Order: sequence, then structure tokens, then C-alpha cells
Amino acid sequence: MTENAALPDQMSKTYNASEIEQPLYRWWEAGGYFKPTIDPSRKPFVISMPPPNVTGALHLGHAIVSSIEDALIRYHRMTGRPTLWVPGADHAGIATQNVVERELAKEGLTRHDLGRAKFVERVWEWKRVFHQRISDQHRRLGVSCDWDRERFTMDEDLSRAVREAFVRLYERNLIYRGAYLVNWCPRCGTAISDLEVEHEEEDTSLWYVRYWTEEGDKYITVATTRPETILGDTAVAVNPSDPRYGDMVGRKVRLPVINRLVPIIADEAVDSSFGTGAVKVTPAHDPVDYEIGIRHGLPVIDAMNDDATMNREAGPYQGQGRLECRRNLVADLEAMGDLVKVEPYHHSVGHCQRCHTTVEPRISTQWFVRTKPLARPALQAVRDGRIRIIPQRFTKVYYEWMENIRDWCISRQLWWGHRIPVWYCDECGAQICSRVDPTECPDCGSSAIHQDEDVLDTWFSSGLWPFSTLGWPDETKDLDYFYPTSVLETAYDILFFWVARMIMLGLDMTGEVPFDTVYLHGLVRDEEGRKISKSLPDAWRYDPLFVIEEYGQDALRFTLLTGSTPGNDMKLSQSRIEANRNFANKIWQAARFVLGNLDSRASEFVPPAKPLAPGAQVNTADRWILSRYHRLVGQVSRLIDGYQLGEAGRQVYEFLWGEYCDWYIEMSKVRLRDGVQASADAARRVLVYVLEGCLRLLHPYMPFVTEAIWQYLPHRGQALIVAPWPQAGAVDHAAEEEIGTLMELVRTIRNARSEYGVEPGRRIAAIIAAGERLPFLQEQSPVLAALARLDGGRLRLAESPDSIPGKALALVVGGLECYLPLASLLDLERERARLRTDLERLATEIARSEKLLANRDFVAKAPQAVVERERDKLVGYHERRAKLQEQLHNLSS
Ligand SMILES: [Zn+2]
Ligand SMILES: [Zn+2]
Repeated sequence: MTENAALPDQMSKTYNASEIEQPLYRWWEAGGYFKPTIDPSRKPFVISMPPPNVTGALHLGHAIVSSIEDALIRYHRMTGRPTLWVPGADHAGIATQNVVERELAKEGLTRHDLGRAKFVERVWEWKRVFHQRISDQHRRLGVSCDWDRERFTMDEDLSRAVREAFVRLYERNLIYRGAYLVNWCPRCGTAISDLEVEHEEEDTSLWYVRYWTEEGDKYITVATTRPETILGDTAVAVNPSDPRYGDMVGRKVRLPVINRLVPIIADEAVDSSFGTGAVKVTPAHDPVDYEIGIRHGLPVIDAMNDDATMNREAGPYQGQGRLECRRNLVADLEAMGDLVKVEPYHHSVGHCQRCHTTVEPRISTQWFVRTKPLARPALQAVRDGRIRIIPQRFTKVYYEWMENIRDWCISRQLWWGHRIPVWYCDECGAQICSRVDPTECPDCGSSAIHQDEDVLDTWFSSGLWPFSTLGWPDETKDLDYFYPTSVLETAYDILFFWVARMIMLGLDMTGEVPFDTVYLHGLVRDEEGRKISKSLPDAWRYDPLFVIEEYGQDALRFTLLTGSTPGNDMKLSQSRIEANRNFANKIWQAARFVLGNLDSRASEFVPPAKPLAPGAQVNTADRWILSRYHRLVGQVSRLIDGYQLGEAGRQVYEFLWGEYCDWYIEMSKVRLRDGVQASADAARRVLVYVLEGCLRLLHPYMPFVTEAIWQYLPHRGQALIVAPWPQAGAVDHAAEEEIGTLMELVRTIRNARSEYGVEPGRRIAAIIAAGERLPFLQEQSPVLAALARLDGGRLRLAESPDSIPGKALALVVGGLECYLPLASLLDLERERARLRTDLERLATEIARSEKLLANRDFVAKAPQAVVERERDKLVGYHERRAKLQEQLHNLSS
């Protein structure tokens, strides 16, 4: 019986997650259990949840983040620390804008048809629907975060934080605007940062093109993978030490088709072994060429429009798409006889992370953050241990990236996002960056000013997340108490996107590290190790909502937590989820057994501080399970504190399933049956005590099934979610050793039984010479008899071996000698008869095989493999015969 309105009155026969999870979650949320109390005398434990994309649907990435963070949160909450988990959602600039643009396309519209204001309004409508959806889906994962503190990166106060951070950096000249080479996505129509470019190996061609000198007397051949960029060339470069071209340097060549004259220059950056050793230089479309261009003062000619169609610089190809232009230009070169050859080529090509379009390196005017001055303190914070990265090997990766960091392009040519807080004066050209929207130019007083069209990179606002969510830049109570946060937990693949930027911005804006620990988990892959994506045919099987419907949230979470180690990818297998669903049900059944044995006296067994009443009849089994449990508590706490979440979960699993269910419950059954009330009550007390404690240990891993069971069991307090974390207690070495021996003895007898094919129902005799263990075995003899299926009447315990029957199986277990009379194991006459029949059958087989192998025709003509197989068979027959003969001999002597 439970009085918890979220649960059925009685425990169902089997654990039914779908009946329990959602009502229980609503009960926790409504009960305010996810909210911290501010206690100035205690250091709080705080996590900012990595905000999911507002338009996204729940996937396994969210599931693993939630599982790890919720486990940490629930653990620390139970240890009594004020614990806060801040949830939120990210406006996800490009991703969201793409989704809404696709929707508009279905209506035959583009964002330009709507105009900026209407379009942004439309995105907000979308946001309202999808934000609710992702928050509700997150609730299905059982996250115990404080929903009243939920934040959205474009909330009014968070937008104010973004603006404050921008203005501060701008005023210190850490933000600047300029024309530089950026990664340009022609599909999204925006610049993207280096990190948003995904490189993939592609098969393409290398085109060898002849450029004639101004005078037309000589030519130089260059190789390129992007012939269309010839139209933006402003030089040809060779290595200064390349003897082939020494006399050419300083001369001019004509670009094919458009005939522009460009110089031949010498630059150390040219690799003489690539192509012909002479390369074309297109500063507007290639990062290496861009650098060469700066060194040699070359003009920068951008031959493309924003959408990667060719512009007027492309002459006859103006208006064509980049690939169309490539085809036409190559055809023209061939017709002119200036295409020397085409070779197959394999190289890495950058793609837009969001839409997968090939990225075009392109010169463009953008906003940048000067990262070097921000990176220095961020490096120092990790070097001096104020921030610890788990696993440690990622520290090196962090150092390398931070030491070689490049300026961060933060402007995006989008409409959805935080608009750059900079205005330009149309009269005097002044640039105004301000915390409040200006109405006139501070320099000349003109009201003809306009705001920059660009918005900020989404990661700019994400970088402020740990403190903007707590109220920064205002000095709020939350910011004062909960900042710096404790742990930043995320997938290792966004270490730079996010973690590095939070550290840089956190230190710069607040003067403090934003968190003291970075915990990086691996990626979840399918059973074959493939990255799980929507394109997999069985992707639906990895949809967390499907898994939760089918197996329950606890099973999914336990699988994710125990299957992963920090920083390593994991394979998610269906069978493990199923096994963990069975584990939930196993604990449920254990609880039903315990409850069934308390009956109406449940209230007498509310777990006391100490499970063994003074002067109570103490059984070694009780001392043993308590010792094992106390040992477990210590280990699990240590492992969780050391972020070894997987190992901690596995140990609770092993203990509950193995020692508690398979051994202690089975041992207790004997005492509950035999009618000695003091012993039975002691067992009841220990059964409840250990189970209740294990529910606490398992709660961070399987919150639903543990809370549900706890509500049915006798307990102290309102809810398991806020019950105190158990304390490790004394270890009882003597009891552990004694019960260890008993378990070994039972296992050995069970093995012997199965080896001799003894029917499970058959009770057998045993004589045990126990030495100094005699009193212990006498105490445990009913248990031993029950577990090893011995006949109590024919179980003889003695200090030393007395009359041992002649035909007996002798087993030696940790200083004990155990004899099982064969006559009690088996019906001797029948067994001897069976062995003889088997031996006769074998003799026939051996004769047949030997005859076959003696046949020269067979050995010469049959395939080698067949002959080999026959020989192996014969060896096997002989081995089997020897074994049967030995068994028969044992039974006869
Ligand atoms: Zn794109
Ligand atoms: Zn002005």
C-alpha cells in the first residue's frame, strides 16, 4: 500500500514503467523537489544544462547529457548540498532560420518576401511551439532541473547580457570589423566559423591549365581543383628555389578567356612537388593564397556573388553557378587547347555543418573577436588547476587549440539572432556601439543612422550561458550564490565550440572561472559503431522516446550510464537496454518479496539507523550482507566523486542482483519459513534496511523504479529524491570470509550435481569435515541444505572426517572437506547401465571410423578436409571413451 497519489495502491505483478514514470515526474515537479534552497553556510552544486536547440527533436545526444547530469544532480542533492540544475533552450541561429525558411518555401515564399520584421515574428511563433515540445520531451528523460529557472538565449534579460558582453569587448578593442577571408556558406548566405565547417574526403579532378606570357612566347602550366577560381586569380606563384621557373619570375601571364595580366611571383609557401610546381593565386577564395596576397600586395578579386553564382569579374560566365561555370570554362580551355591534362584527385573539402553545402572560402567584411588576449587567462585557469578537464587527455587538446587560436568570426548574415549592437552614421560615417539604441549620431548629431544588418554567432550567447542564466550582468541573489557553477558536462566534440568560449568569456566578464570541472562524455553509436543519424534505416530504434515507451526511462538511462566511460564513444545495444529493463523488474520483484513477508507489520520495519537491534539474535548472514552493503556504499560514493559513474552503477547492479537477490534473499527464505520469530524478524529488518539503502544508491541511475519502490516500502521522509545519501559503515571481515566460504561450498556442490546430472528435485546426502568452521556451519546448516539441495536428515557436520563412505565424491572448499556419497547422487545400478550402453555405442562408432580411415581409397580420394574431420572425430571418440570408463570405474570400486 502506498499513500502516494501518483502511484497505484498496490505494486503491480511486474514493473510497468509506462504506468509509473510520467505521474511520478509530475509529482516530483509539483512537490518542488527540483528546487534548491539557498543556504549560505553550504557550497551549492550547480550545473547549467547545455541548452538544446529550440527547434530540435530529442535525440540520444540529449539523453546521454541528461543521464549524466541528472545522475550527478540527484547524487549531490541527496548528499544534502543545495543543488541547482538550470535548464534552457538555444535559439540556434542558422538551424532555426533554415527550418522556418523551409516551411516558407512550401508556401512558395522566401524570407525576403516577408521582410525582416515579419520573418522574425514568424520564427518566434515557431519557437513558441517547438520550445514547449523540446521541454516536454526533456521531462520524459526524468531531468530534475528547476523549470522555474528555465532560460532561452533570446529572453530579454539574456539578450541584455549578450549586448553588455559585446559592448564591453568592443570598448576594449577586443571586437573589430574588417574584410577577411571567411568560410562562406552559399546556401545559408552567411559566414560561418572554422568550427562549423566539416571536412570530408572527396574524389575530384586536378585540372592542368596553360597560362601564356604577355608576349605569347612561353607558357606556364598550373594545376587546380577549382578551375572557376581562375577568374579571381591575381598572380601565379612558384617556389623561389625551383630551378624550372627561375627565368619566369617577374614576367606576366594572361589568364585564359578573360585575358587579365597577372605577375609570376616567388613565394616560400609554394610546394614544388604539387602539380607542376606553379600555382595560381586567388586571394579572395583561398586561405593560403590570401596570405600570399598580403605578402606580395596583390589585388583581391572576388569573382562570386553571395549565392556562389559568378559575378561580373567572371566575364562571359557572369550569372552562372560555380559548378556550371567550372564545366563551361573547362570546355572552353579544351577548345582553346590550353587544357593540358586532367588527373583524378582525392582531397578534403569543407562543408557547412548545418546544410552540408560545399563551403566557399571568401573575402568578406565581418565582425571578429580578438581571441588571443582572452585565451591567455583561459589557458592559465586550466594550467593552474582552477578548472579540471575529465578525462585528463583532453587537457592537451585544449592547450593546443587555445595556443593556436585564431580570431573568432562572430557575425552571421542571418535575421534570427542577437542583432549586432552597432549603428553607422549616414552623414559622417561614425560607428556607434551602445548599450541602448541610439537615435542620433553622437559625433554630428544626425538622425540618419542605421543598424548593422548582421546577427551574432549563436555560440556568442552560449558562451555566456553559465552566468547569463543566473542574472548577469545584474548582481542577483542567484548569481551571487550559485556562480561559479560546479560542472560543465558535454560531449567532447563541442569542447571548442562551447567549453573553451565559456571559459574565455566567463573569466573576462565575471573575473571567475565559470565552473571548476569539465566532464566530457563520448558519442553514442549504434551496435555496429556507426554514428547514429536520421539516415540510418533503423534510426527509429535509437529514438529515445521510442526506447522510453518500449523499455522505460530507467532502462535507457542505466544503459547509457553504465555503458560509457568519460571521453570514449559507446555502442548502444538493444539487448543491453532489454537486460536493464529486466534489472528494474528484478528489483521490483525483490521488493514485492520483502513486502509480502512484512504483511500487516510493515510499520514495524521502518529502516532504523542501525539494522541490528542490540541483543537481537545476530545471524552471520545478516552481518555479511550489511558488511557487503556498507562496503558498497563507500565504493559507490568514491566512484561517483571521481566521476566513474559507469563503474559505480555496475557495482550497485552486481550487488543487488547477485549478493542481495541471489544469495541473501534465498538465505532469508529459510529463516522466514522455519518459524523462529526473532530470527525471522532480524532477517526482515535487514532485508528492508539493505534494500532501502540500495534504492538510495541506485536512485541517480534509475530514478523512477527506485522512487516507486521506496514509496511502497516502509520509509522515513516524503520522497526518495530528497532522502539522505547512505553512509558507509564498518566492514565485518570475519562474516565476509565465513559466508564467502559457504557460498563457495554451495557453488561447488551445485557444480558437482550438474556434472553428474542429478535431477534438480533430488535431495542428496553430504558429510562435511568443517574444522574450526563447525559452529558456523551448524548455524547455517538449514541454509546450506536449502541452497545446495541437501537432505537435512543426511547432512553430517563434523570437525574432522570420520567414516567416509567408499564411493563418494570428495570436494575441497577453503579448508572444508565435503563428501557426497555417490549412491545418494545417483541410482548406481541405473547409472552403470547407462554408462555401459554409451560405451557400446561408442565402440561401434570407433570401429566404423577406424575401418574408414584404414580404407586407402577413402584416404586418397576424399577431400583432405573430410579426411581430417574423420580423424578428429576418432580422437574425440577415444577421449570420450576414456572418460566414461573412468566414471564407470568410480561407480564400481
Ligand atoms: Zn549552410
Ligand atoms: Zn554622424
